[in-house]
Amino acid sequence: MSDHLAAGYDLAVFDLDGVVFLIDKPIPGAAEAVERLRADGTAVAYATNNASRRAGEVAALLTGMGVSAAPAEVLTSAGAAAALIAEQVPAGSPVLVVGAEALRAEVRDAGLVPVDSAEDEPVAVVQGYGPEVGWKILSEAALAIRAGATWYATNTDRTLPSPRGPLPGNGSLVAVIRTALDRDPDVVVGKPQPALFTTAASLAKADHPLAIGDRLDTDIQGAVTAGMDSLLVLTGVSGPTDLLSAPAERRPTFVAADLSALFRSADQARIPATEVQGWQLTRDGDRATLSGAGDPVDALRLLCGATWDGLPPANLEPGSPEATELLHSWGL
Ligand SMILES: [Mg+2]
Repeated sequence: MSDHLAAGYDLAVFDLDGVVFLIDKPIPGAAEAVERLRADGTAVAYATNNASRRAGEVAALLTGMGVSAAPAEVLTSAGAAAALIAEQVPAGSPVLVVGAEALRAEVRDAGLVPVDSAEDEPVAVVQGYGPEVGWKILSEAALAIRAGATWYATNTDRTLPSPRGPLPGNGSLVAVIRTALDRDPDVVVGKPQPALFTTAASLAKADHPLAIGDRLDTDIQGAVTAGMDSLLVLTGVSGPTDLLSAPAERRPTFVAADLSALFRSADQARIPATEVQGWQLTRDGDRATLSGAGDPVDALRLLCGATWDGLPPANLEPGSPEATELLHSWGL
């Protein structure tokens, strides 16, 4: 008998970077979490906006890090984009591919013909991140879109994390064509669009899936749009101040320091919280004072109750040395 958080769900859909790994290193506890979910009978899926690897390559990468994954459990924005285009145009249609070889292969496997020139009269342009994407192919894409091809972007993440700092992501390359043509893509496939999550749920035949991510603007907003509960883990991009000031469409169901929360009581991660161990919050008009001491995530859950209710995060004040240190560490 268990009331732990994951027990309430029949599928856990993991974002990858910042949740399961950071660049090329597994996040401590991720492999154990996946194994324990499987042992408990909870299905596992992985959903990534990165369009430069195929599902099989992602599964091999995860397995190599000690995180068990089957190709069928992996949803990439490249695979989802190709599947979507195949639904919307006749089989065998020419599609101009801007991106990595993985995207080209997905387009081919979806029964379409990848091309690289506007002269081939593509009915669609699909654009994903690829390290070799340059002016020439971007120009062909711009010409094809101007001639009437439907423009699909696998995702619009502006940056890619790297050990040297953020690098231009697909959103930055999409912005090249957006600037040249003064228009947006017709379709964006990846998160925060709900397609990766809803496809994962339907493939696993899940009735009650949980999305797990590190970014409010992609993972959590995608889960909210898909009507799914979500867990924000603080091992990646979004931090406490992002959560405190999150608009309604980017608010997760749960927050936790890491994936170990999946195996503790759901009430220890649910937000907002009105009462937590160790911390107290006193409202006084448009200000609120945090006092006491305890787990930082508990304080965060308590504070979300005030800021999601309209209190500006800047109006939070400390009422104990521990609260002073905590708010300072969050830059408040
Ligand atoms: Mg991530």
